[in-house]
Amino acid sequence: EMSASLVGSEMCIRDRPTGLPLTMTLTTKLEKEETMNKPQGILLVLSGPSGAGKGTICGRLLEKRDHMAYSVSCTTREPRKGEVDGKNYFFKTREEFEEMIKNGGLLEHASVYGNYYGTPRQYVLDKLNEGLDVVLEIDPQGALQVKKSYPDGVFVFIVPPSLDELSKRIYKRGTDAVDVIKRRLSAATSELAYASKYDYIVVNDEVERATDKVSKIIDVEHLKVGRTYYIVDEICQQKTTEQD
Ligand code: 5GP
Repeated sequence: EMSASLVGSEMCIRDRPTGLPLTMTLTTKLEKEETMNKPQGILLVLSGPSGAGKGTICGRLLEKRDHMAYSVSCTTREPRKGEVDGKNYFFKTREEFEEMIKNGGLLEHASVYGNYYGTPRQYVLDKLNEGLDVVLEIDPQGALQVKKSYPDGVFVFIVPPSLDELSKRIYKRGTDAVDVIKRRLSAATSELAYASKYDYIVVNDEVERATDKVSKIIDVEHLKVGRTYYIVDEICQQKTTEQD
């Protein structure tokens, strides 16, 4: 009994200045936090070598989960067959892209295989504020930039079960010229070195299984104290109302 109430009071009355009546400090704190602590969505950053299956996993996540938004990136690379402007990417000229960098319109950007790639800032911030989980599918250079400016993000690195499997997948996709494929394969090995900078590693041996793992990561991340404390505050508020 004793310890339970101690824990309770510690959790509800953080930083209570001594001498002030309990209800008063609680109310002041809650009024402040009600505006501060609206639950925001999770910024989920997925990276991994090309052919690891990030794109497929993203697609399945959006189909399977509620409250998710996909951040469509800008790029200066040529559209591949079947790619749609505004859906797969916003295809930009170098001039347009450099203008966006100058205007601060990008949350991060990087040069990958000789082309610019970047994440439009406003869309991501709007969706997070609406409480949606936003998924970015970006390279490690971009992910590290996001980690600096938005450390609350959740960083997941997708790896193929083996390099052989990776090579098979890229050839099978058949959307890139052979020299591009070769470049991507050698880049894959150096990209794997970034895995240690991430919060989670998911092996994509089978798409559904890998998707479920990423989905569980999102579920668990939503339970972290920093994202759920408002619930405890709400409970404390109910308790003091009853006691009044
Ligand atoms: P692809 O040309 O195959 O679509 O993408 C090449 C690489 O660029 C992939 O690793 C992909 O994750 C990354 N990429 C796609 N969009 C962005 C972005 O907005 N920012 C960064 N930094 N990388 C991106």
